Amino acid sequence: MDKDKLFDLYREMGIRREICEFGAVIEAGLGKRFAAIDRTAEYNQMKVIGAMQKNKVQEGCFHYASGYGYNDWGRDTLEDTYASVFHTESALVRPQITCGTHALALALGANLRPGDELLSASGKPYDTLEEVIGIRPSSGSLAEYGITYSQADLLKDGSFDYEAIERALTDKTKLVAIQRSKGYQTRPSFSVEQIGQVIAFVKEKKPDVICMVDNCYGEFVEMIEPSDVGADLVVGSLIKNPGGGLAPIGGYIAGKKELIDACGYRLTSPGLGKEVGASLGTKQSFYQGLFLAPAVTAGALKGAVFAANIYERLGFPVVPDGTESRHDIIQAVELGTAEGVIAFCRGIQAAAPVDSFVTPEPWAMPGYDSDVIMAAGAFVQGSSIELSADAPIKPPYAVYFQGGLTWQHAKFGILMSLEYMMREGLVKKLPGENR
Ligand SMILES: *Cc1c(COP(=O)(O)O)cnc(C)c1O
Repeated sequence: MDKDKLFDLYREMGIRREICEFGAVIEAGLGKRFAAIDRTAEYNQMKVIGAMQKNKVQEGCFHYASGYGYNDWGRDTLEDTYASVFHTESALVRPQITCGTHALALALGANLRPGDELLSASGKPYDTLEEVIGIRPSSGSLAEYGITYSQADLLKDGSFDYEAIERALTDKTKLVAIQRSKGYQTRPSFSVEQIGQVIAFVKEKKPDVICMVDNCYGEFVEMIEPSDVGADLVVGSLIKNPGGGLAPIGGYIAGKKELIDACGYRLTSPGLGKEVGASLGTKQSFYQGLFLAPAVTAGALKGAVFAANIYERLGFPVVPDGTESRHDIIQAVELGTAEGVIAFCRGIQAAAPVDSFVTPEPWAMPGYDSDVIMAAGAFVQGSSIELSADAPIKPPYAVYFQGGLTWQHAKFGILMSLEYMMREGLVKKLPGENR
């Protein structure tokens, strides 16, 4: 391909030539990584197509369903397809599940009863779950319903503390929750294999306990999912990986039939369960998004690996580092200054297909103890499978970067973040420059 022609276009789009050259050098070194990502995507693509064929997905599955949603068989087929992809007995996949937090709250609320205890085996859970559980007092929390909580903190290196988990398992423990992705922490994310080991350990100590995995950002990153290694419930958001960028809303829970049925009764009503809940016009986007999800996830992963390698070469600490294996699509970059995270986020925003002319500003978001800056120029509001970045304005001034519906867009966003860093004088010189 004519490199000059491409670099001229990048220049018109606002990116100086040295950055393009630097990006090309980094990209050239990532051939093996990218090939491995493509192989995983190929495997997962076959898994999804196989599931769709097995469940006889057909044009009629996409039809609009209204009212109570009785006989919304396209919805039921979608749920069977999810169950086939995750190798589970059943699944609940609905537009009425508003987000990932809601899906997790639903799975917990449906399967815990007063007097039961919830144990987090992966330390502090994702921020929004603190209010679901009642770690931070909140109206309607599990704590208000007499469900207690205990937590086995991770070891210093971020691995599971098996002794602490064993100590925390009591007669009351009904459900053990494991979070795959690091979320907004700097620990490593867990591989599916590591999750399988901790599940096996828990089941050996207490066979009747329910193991639930918060799978957010992890779907299709590996060839297996937590449900392949013993998880009774896997939970996630459709505006992350499995929605493939097309799902406009929604969440999923896949797992054992009786546990999923309980989720249905909790989502709608005792007695009604999964039988009601019209999918309205969402089904085609859910199916087509699931179909695209392996490839979209691969693009986002390439973007994360590229970002890690770019910023690592520039001397910034990155988690995961440029060579580590990946278990989710999140990339953290420690920029070290407020100006750094602001410039980075403004670059990501400037590279967006939507709202590129908007300048993100830090603001006091509810639920956070410092100002937060967010960049998102997304087709679906708040979608984080689309290219997005956010950062709390506090030390160590780390930005969390994820998504990109295509690798090309993710790359453009990262190059633009660097362009903005350079314009602000926060990166002065690129490695390999002979000036
Ligand atoms: C995103 C996320 C959630 C919550 O999902 P929302 O859709 O933002 O409510 C929960 N856990 C993890 C690990 C996440 O990444």
